[in-house]
Amino acid sequence: MLRFFNTLSRSVEEFHPLEAGKVRMYICGPTVWNFAHIGNFRTFVFGDILRRYLKYKGYAITHVFNLTDVDDRIINEAARKGITIDEFTAPYIQYFWEDFDALGMERPEVTPRATHHIPEMIEIIQKLIDNGKAYESEGSIYYRITSFPEYGKLSKINFSGNIAGGSERIDTDKYEKEDARDFALWKLVGENEEPGWDAPFGRGRPGWHIECSAMSMKYLGETFDIHAGGQDLQFPHHENEIAQSEGATGKLFAKYWIHSEFLKIDDVTMSKSKGNFFTFRDLREQGYSALAIRYLLLSVPTRKQLNFTFEGLQAAESTVERLRNFRQAVSEARCGPGTNPFIDSSVARAGADFEAAMDDDFNTAAALAAIHNLVREINTHMADEMLLERDRALVLNAIKKFDSVFGIFGEQEPQLLDADIEAMIEERQQARRSRNFARSDEIRDQLAEKGIVLEDTKDGVRWRRG
Ligand code: AMP
Ligand code: ZN
Repeated sequence: MLRFFNTLSRSVEEFHPLEAGKVRMYICGPTVWNFAHIGNFRTFVFGDILRRYLKYKGYAITHVFNLTDVDDRIINEAARKGITIDEFTAPYIQYFWEDFDALGMERPEVTPRATHHIPEMIEIIQKLIDNGKAYESEGSIYYRITSFPEYGKLSKINFSGNIAGGSERIDTDKYEKEDARDFALWKLVGENEEPGWDAPFGRGRPGWHIECSAMSMKYLGETFDIHAGGQDLQFPHHENEIAQSEGATGKLFAKYWIHSEFLKIDDVTMSKSKGNFFTFRDLREQGYSALAIRYLLLSVPTRKQLNFTFEGLQAAESTVERLRNFRQAVSEARCGPGTNPFIDSSVARAGADFEAAMDDDFNTAAALAAIHNLVREINTHMADEMLLERDRALVLNAIKKFDSVFGIFGEQEPQLLDADIEAMIEERQQARRSRNFARSDEIRDQLAEKGIVLEDTKDGVRWRRG
C-alpha cells in the first residue's frame, strides 16, 4: 500500500485516488526565462519518479506539467531586448525540453503554457468577482483573503500577525490592496503596453498563481488527486491556488500535496538569485553524464535536503557505470542450463524491498539499496558460475522493472547473439575467400566495436567476448 506525506494534513497517508485505478496530477513547471538549474531539475526528476512509480503500481496517469511563460522577469528581459515575450521564451522552452529529455524524464500527458490559457484564467477571475472573493482596485483585480476563512490551511502559517515581507514574490505585487495579504489575480496593463489581454474587467495580464489554477482544473477537473512542486511553492503560490480554485468552485482542489525539499550547495539553497547554481548543461560540459546527474538527483528522498557536491556526482558516475556493466555482464554471461533457487529468492526479495521502500513515502535511497544488494548477490553467483540460463531472464526482468521507475541503467546496447557473431564470421570468411579484404576488415571492425575479438588459428577462426 502506497503511503506518503501529504502537506495538507502534515501526516503520512495511504494513497487512495478519487477514481479507482486512475491518478490525475499536476506539477508546477518552470518559468522559462533562463536555463533551469539542477535544483529545479531535482524537483522535476522527483515528478518523473512519482509518475513512473504510480505507473509501476498499475495506475493510469494524467499528468499535467505547465510552463510559466509570462511573469515580471520574462516581461522585463523581453523589453530589454526589444522583442516579444514569445520570441524571448521560445529558445528557453526548447532548451528546457532538451534538458528534460536528456535527463531521461517521460513527457507528461499535458504540458500547457500559461499564455495559451488566458480565457480560462479570465473565467475563474470573473467567478471570483461575481461571488465577492475578488475586487478591483486601480484597474487591477485582487483576491480578497478575508472571504476565504480556510486561507493558510496548506502552509499552516498563522496570518493573525503581520505577514508583509513573508515572501519575495508577494512583494512584486505593489498595488493598492484592501489587505496586505491580498494578491493580484489580474494586473492592469495600459492600452499600448505589451503583453496585455482584454478581459471584461479591463486590459491586463494574469498574476502567477491564477495560471496554475486555470491550467490544472482545465485538464484535471475541479478536484484532482496530487499537486506537487518545490518546497518554496507551498506559500504563497499553492496557498493562493487553493484560495482561487476552492473560492471559485466551492470544492476541494487537490487531495494530496507533495513538496520537494531543496537542493543545496555548500548548505545554501541553489538559486538563480544567489548565483550559486549549475545548469544541467554546465555539468554535461564538465564531462558528467546525464545518467549520473539523474542518479544523484533521485538518490536522496524528496523530503530530505540534498547537498550537491562534485564528489557526490563523481560517485554517482561510478555507480551508474557499475550498474550498466552489471547488466552487460548478466546479458553476456555464459550460463549453464537450469536454474539456481538462490537467485530466484534474491530477485524476489529485491523486488519486495524495492516496492516497500517506494511505498514508504518514496524512499528512493532504500529502493536503490535494494537494487545494489541484488547486484552484489548476483555478482557473487556469477563469480561462482552459478548464474544459470533461466536465472538470467529473471535478473534482467527485475532490472527492467526497477528501471521503469528510476531510469538509471540507460539504453542497453543491442546485444549480439552467438548465432549473429558466427554468421558474421562466416560472411567474413567468404569475403576473404573472394579476396574482398575491404569487406572482411569491415566485419572484423564491426565485431571489435561490440567487444568481440577474433583469433585466426590453424583450425579456423575462434572468437571470444573481450
Ligand atoms: P521556477 O522556475 O523558479 O518557477 O522553479 C521551478 C521549480 O523548481 C519549482 O517547483 C521550485 O520550487 C523548484 N526549485 C527552485 N529551486 C530549487 C532548489 N534549489 N532545489 C529544488 N527545487 C527547486
Ligand atoms: Zn504552479
